[in-house]
Amino acid sequence: MEKNNAYPFNLFSPLSNIGKTGAVLLNKIINPSSCGSRLYAKLEGLNPGGSVKDRPALYMIKNALLNGLIKEGTAIIDSSSGNTGISYAMIGALLGIKVKIYAPYNMSEERKKIMRLYGAELILTPAEESHDGAIKRAVEEYEKRGKGLYYMPDQYNNAFNPIAHYETTAIELLEQTGGNIDYFVTGIGTGGTILGVGKRLKEYNGNIKIIAVVPDNEMHGIEGWKYNYSLNFKNFDQNKIIDDFVKVDTEGSYSMLKKIIKDEGILCGFSSGANVYGIQKLAAKYRGNFATVLPDTGSRYLSTRVFNEII
Ligand code: PMP
Repeated sequence: MEKNNAYPFNLFSPLSNIGKTGAVLLNKIINPSSCGSRLYAKLEGLNPGGSVKDRPALYMIKNALLNGLIKEGTAIIDSSSGNTGISYAMIGALLGIKVKIYAPYNMSEERKKIMRLYGAELILTPAEESHDGAIKRAVEEYEKRGKGLYYMPDQYNNAFNPIAHYETTAIELLEQTGGNIDYFVTGIGTGGTILGVGKRLKEYNGNIKIIAVVPDNEMHGIEGWKYNYSLNFKNFDQNKIIDDFVKVDTEGSYSMLKKIIKDEGILCGFSSGANVYGIQKLAAKYRGNFATVLPDTGSRYLSTRVFNEII
């Protein structure tokens, strides 16, 4: 490990290019001159690993290295719907750390391929068990095979997940918008983004409302989102951070995704469509400056039905 430590965190490492993503105004979807509202969106697909999850993955792994939780020969084990797994796999490749990911079988083919290209071991769990099955099986393996062998970042409970957003995503958003935000709106996977960004924005200006976009049913098709979530990060109290919820259906989210790609020229993923669809619903009721993240690049969904329909 020592031999790698100096390089990976210097200026020219891919790791130093995580974060500092661009922000755009989605003017065709929320037109300031016709409705008086604005929508700022951070392009998280521009991260080296193609998603917002590079940020928490780096924070969790860096912290584990600093605290001696990852030593020579320790492998990273965790569950992931795909994006965090890709981030672990990318960072693991660079640092020479083995990575083992448990993920639901129905994850897109591109994601499976990317993780394997980075050299990660991928264990596919039954699709009908969803994310919860992947989490359960990763924990079982971790407990059975011994904690000396593995380090489990446990993104659902590791406070460095929201801290990454508190220290990076939120600060960038404040700089990019000049602090002119009335609503921060996003969906929930682990809750790291909404709680980390939300807490920092509220500290900056207590009037900023934090609104969670949630799927309208358990069998939704928004990769990266959890229907039954429980958020338990230390120092990030959901009840103090999230002010309100807006529900979205899957097909409406898909239609919005197609619109973002065609009209705004941004190739992003399903949860981006769902975030923006939620904001469109809110903008029918409220006026102001909305901000969100477009969590990942669309290039990892090219084989899916929705992307085939666009052509
Ligand atoms: N969108 C996508 C595509 C994701 O992979 C994730 C993370 N699972 C999210 C949104 C939700 O982000 P968070 O985990 O920070 O709640």
